[in-house]
Amino acid sequence: MRFIEERFGEDFKGDYKAVKKGKIQDAHEAIRPTNVYMTPEKAKNLMNNDQYKLYKLIWERFIASQMKGSTYEETEIVLKDESGRFGFLGVLRKRIFDGFELVLEMVKESSTNFHRGEGELIEIEEVEIKEMETKPKPRFSEATLVKEMEKRGIGRPSTYATTIRTLFRRKYVKKERRKIVPTLLGSIVNDFMEKYFGEIVDLDFTARMEERLDEIEKGEQEYQDLLKKFYVGFKNLLEGVNGIKIDMQSDRKCECGSPMTMKYGKYGFYLKCEACGRTKGVKSDTPAIVLDNKIFFNLKGESNEGNGSDGRNLERT
Ligand SMILES: [Zn+2]
Repeated sequence: MRFIEERFGEDFKGDYKAVKKGKIQDAHEAIRPTNVYMTPEKAKNLMNNDQYKLYKLIWERFIASQMKGSTYEETEIVLKDESGRFGFLGVLRKRIFDGFELVLEMVKESSTNFHRGEGELIEIEEVEIKEMETKPKPRFSEATLVKEMEKRGIGRPSTYATTIRTLFRRKYVKKERRKIVPTLLGSIVNDFMEKYFGEIVDLDFTARMEERLDEIEKGEQEYQDLLKKFYVGFKNLLEGVNGIKIDMQSDRKCECGSPMTMKYGKYGFYLKCEACGRTKGVKSDTPAIVLDNKIFFNLKGESNEGNGSDGRNLERT
């Protein structure tokens, strides 16, 4: 405390009080310098660079912890275009009392000044669009998948394991680095089911079907009626599916630079460049996902993409 007062002045002293509570040993003892007068500047000549950095860190943190908080003045700036379609909100911070940040800077002060009156018009000089990415949720492991199934009421505890095993057996998913990832085949099948049998793969379908079955049990509905209704709908769906070809844009680029299209033929999945006609086979268990009718081999959040030698390159659209 005396050190802070001597060095920075009375105002910077924190409200910290050294309280001794009877016989209770102080349990949360932190690392701190044994002599605050040994400042990092003085100590610098006595130690190597790493030791100095570490000491400075400890010293500054300790001193800062004994000082007053810092005070900021904040200016909120609200910008709107005339139509009201676009709005921007910004905050300018100006430190008006340094407090502990005299020693340990935590918040960067805004470097720009902004002096405009309310309602003033501002000319736009340049528009820059920056893409920000938030971290996607981690992929499922078997354990987290079971948890999710429980949460969503998919299956019963007795069927969780078989269901997951079936996905693996049919190569709809595979394991990579202990995480479960969807394969090309799995993603295509899933996309297909959602598109053409959306009602059946809908998570609520099972629940609704259970209700109907209950109605039959109670004699409120004839089972033939239910079957007929279901079958007519299903038959229409099936007929609509006939002759559908897989033809989907992908995130892979051909050597000529054009995007490649995902197709399915006699020998399985392959990519075709519509520009130059090159084709390339793709294993059905390659990790991939379908989003908005486009197949992505470059799964975000995967760090093992390699350098493109196996075709799974890092190109993004
Ligand atoms: Zn090409």
